[in-house]
Amino acid sequence: MTDYLVKSIINDGMFRAYVVNGTQLVKEAQKRHGTWSAATAALGRSLVGTLMLASSLLKGKEKLTVKINGGGPVGGIVVDGNANGTVKGYLQQPHVSLPLNDKHHIDVGRAVGNKGTLSVTKDMGLKDPFTGNVGLASGEIGDDFTYYLAQSEQIPSSVGVSVFVNPDESVEVAGGFMIQVMPGASDEAIDRLQKTLTHLPLVSELLRQGKTPEDILGMLFKNDKVKILDKMPVSFACDCSKERFAAAMASLPADEIEAMIKEDHGAEVTCRFCGNQYHYDETELKAVLIKAQS
Ligand SMILES: [Zn+2]
Repeated sequence: MTDYLVKSIINDGMFRAYVVNGTQLVKEAQKRHGTWSAATAALGRSLVGTLMLASSLLKGKEKLTVKINGGGPVGGIVVDGNANGTVKGYLQQPHVSLPLNDKHHIDVGRAVGNKGTLSVTKDMGLKDPFTGNVGLASGEIGDDFTYYLAQSEQIPSSVGVSVFVNPDESVEVAGGFMIQVMPGASDEAIDRLQKTLTHLPLVSELLRQGKTPEDILGMLFKNDKVKILDKMPVSFACDCSKERFAAAMASLPADEIEAMIKEDHGAEVTCRFCGNQYHYDETELKAVLIKAQS
């Protein structure tokens, strides 16, 4: 089954709701980075959260970068998202697994830490990108996206993101929801939603039961009018290439490139976002050197 995101509007504009099954994309991230359970959940939740944030805030060719630094063992997390439903991301320390927390869930809060910030840099194609920064609420990621939306975008919201990791470190399911409260929302509808949210199982539990994003939307708003606006495929995708890294290398000092040619007789570059490796032989490095000197 392929991953997809459902965008919807509730009660003619009281809420905007996004629900995503991101199982395949988090599986892909786990395989590419070789993450262990706590790191997988931290990165997976960040990928799913960024995907929904980007889908709700961006259009056209706009893109954004989410950086989460909580001082925990996984180190910094970086995720790029855009309006087209692709994300890419990495964390500093992929080999982190921890004992389960008191709710018997993966202890993402401890893995990420809560002494730091979540920042979102939006590149809207203008001269200067805009960056919004908030302190971390808990390091559990969902709470932190909720806090960012409230503080930096002035959008009251509820964000739930979850990943189920199998004992062999593979990802069984991953997904989430993002509900944004619009100015016209009635108190009654907000109360009803809050009650529903306190009893709703984790999205990962619902996906494991075979529920689709549409089913989950129906559970969130069972007594409301749900209008689906869009159903969009989503995936993990990186836009790196050998040419791109060669262009980046050309901005290095010429003597560094010369050293790669004379001492190392080649160079190896690894993309942090996707783990792809690119090899450059001496001839290719000489072409880079000419560019660097021109
Ligand atoms: Zn890449």
